[in-house]
Amino acid sequence: MSTTNDTLAKARIAVLGYGSQGRAHALNLRDSGLDVVVGLRKGGPSWEKARAEGFNVAEPAEAVKGADLVAVLTPDMVQPALYRDAIAPNIKPGAALLFAHGFNVHFGQIGPRQDVDVILVAPKGPGALVRREYEIGRGVPCIWAVHQDVSGQAEAKAKAYADGIGGGRALLIKTDFKEETETDLFGEQAVLCGGASSLVQAGFETLVEAGYQPEIAYYEVLHELKLIVDLFYEGGITRMLEFVSETAQYGDYVSGPRVIDAGVKARMKEVLKDIQDGTFAKNWIAEYQAGLPNYKQYKQADLEHPVEQVGKRLRARMPWLQAAAPQPSAEPLKKVG
Ligand code: NAD
Ligand code: MG
Repeated sequence: MSTTNDTLAKARIAVLGYGSQGRAHALNLRDSGLDVVVGLRKGGPSWEKARAEGFNVAEPAEAVKGADLVAVLTPDMVQPALYRDAIAPNIKPGAALLFAHGFNVHFGQIGPRQDVDVILVAPKGPGALVRREYEIGRGVPCIWAVHQDVSGQAEAKAKAYADGIGGGRALLIKTDFKEETETDLFGEQAVLCGGASSLVQAGFETLVEAGYQPEIAYYEVLHELKLIVDLFYEGGITRMLEFVSETAQYGDYVSGPRVIDAGVKARMKEVLKDIQDGTFAKNWIAEYQAGLPNYKQYKQADLEHPVEQVGKRLRARMPWLQAAAPQPSAEPLKKVG
């Protein structure tokens, strides 16, 4: 075990939530030799799963009681009530409260007790990848931060936790809650989830409306995107340019900026401003509290988009895609951010 890891060697870690991140963190921490208890609602969807995977599972309040570090890995929108009901009344003075996303602390939805460390370890990848990389001896890069340090050990605890989930094998970068929260929200909204899926839908619609076969449009604007993104991941735009034809490169140079023009960047800045000034957070919290009426509608529209209809048929004929997908866990790679 590394020196930083020793910081948590004798610690009891409560992982609250056993979803995308929670499951990966709990399994990796345990495999790193750390003492983990999983905190879940009895009868909730993940209770049996965590039990079946060998964990000591308790109600959140019980799990928090004995813990030296509490990792809050439930959905962001349930964290304020969870903090109020299960964590604040039970967390030990001097223990650490850890988040994987700074949303609630940064936007003031959780005001942590003054006598606990408050830290952040955010893997830059979905939970299934955090687990898969760990299992093959690697890790997903993590960014970490300290919001409050009462023990004098907050930084060491954050690094030890990041090591425990495998991030130390990859790369650790120091940040703060504001930077993590704002950049994470921007990335998923403008580029990763929102930007990429809207780009794919618009490209698909353009081809289909021009009379081309939807099946061919699907391959052109969605399926092949993976190839390109893999090259970005391995070696940036440089590597992508090495692998595509001169014709594709010329088209990239003249047409890319026509599609993603200064207007797009100006609107990205508006998206960022809404994140920075709290407008997005305010709207999202209100939407959640109203029972997600718009969210459900938007989601349904995405699921019913013609690119999904044709995609479903084509993917059923490419069963190897599922076999090749990273699924060491039972969880599909369903989420970013
Ligand atoms: P998730 O939706 O996949 O899982 C949530 C888990 O919490 C489930 O096990 C659920 O049963 C449990 N849960 C729900 N309500 C609960 C309650 N009241 N008490 C106890 N348990 C409850 O969540 P996720 O996507 O892993 O997100 C967890 C945190 O990690 C969030 O802060 C998120 O922003 C952050 N994060 C997620 C990703 C990602 O890839 N999904 C990446 C980085 C950071
Ligand atoms: Mg996110």
